[in-house]
Amino acid sequence: MVGNKYKVESIIKSVNVDPHSFSPSSNDAKQIADSKIIVSSGLGYDDWVNKIVTANSQNKNLIDFADVLHKKDGDNEHIWFGVQNIQKLSQAVYQQMIKVDPKNKAYYQANFKEYDLKLASLIQREKALKKYTNGKKAYVTEPLPYYMLKDLGVTIANQHFAKAVEDDTDPSIDDVKDMENGLKKHQVSFLVVNKQVTSGIITKMTDLAKKYHVPIVYFTETLPNDLGYYDWMDGNITQIERIVKK
Ligand SMILES: [Zn+2]
Repeated sequence: MVGNKYKVESIIKSVNVDPHSFSPSSNDAKQIADSKIIVSSGLGYDDWVNKIVTANSQNKNLIDFADVLHKKDGDNEHIWFGVQNIQKLSQAVYQQMIKVDPKNKAYYQANFKEYDLKLASLIQREKALKKYTNGKKAYVTEPLPYYMLKDLGVTIANQHFAKAVEDDTDPSIDDVKDMENGLKKHQVSFLVVNKQVTSGIITKMTDLAKKYHVPIVYFTETLPNDLGYYDWMDGNITQIERIVKK
């Protein structure tokens, strides 16, 4: 959207860190302090952003993504996995840009419209895919793709387990047993593995899925540094498409 007028940088640049336990360096804090627009996820996912923003009295520069969506505490915080959510964020960023730099309004507007069409094409892909996915069940190692799976009509069949992993606690023995049985008996169409959060139990489940030929979809939680959002989500949709269209 900002094109050649501004530079966009992610604070979490690597997919080799767990964003849930990320803490910013003094360089990160400086980068935030120097920004015209700061986008945070919200919902407690990245409270460190709010702290830095408040310390620098930059609140008017902050776009809290969850607030844009009117989400409330307890809602799934991986909101960027919903393409429609990103459409709303894109609109909010556009509105902010024309305040920050009004003389380039036409430029931002053209970029916004072009990007909005790209996002709409992703939503179309999901709608087409839903014919194959609607009503299916999946396991996830973390409730990462909640919004995408919801858009595809796929139910997460191990919510408890996924929540425990996300909260850094041990899943209960019953939850583990249920999931092991489900994999053995092919009760789900696929397993979504979040590559950014690993543990013994996740490796165990992944191995079990391989052993019993339950297809695995590998997602990252944050944007890979060689991809833009569109290509990232496009690739994620393609992974699911390959499995369900077989
Ligand atoms: Zn997460």
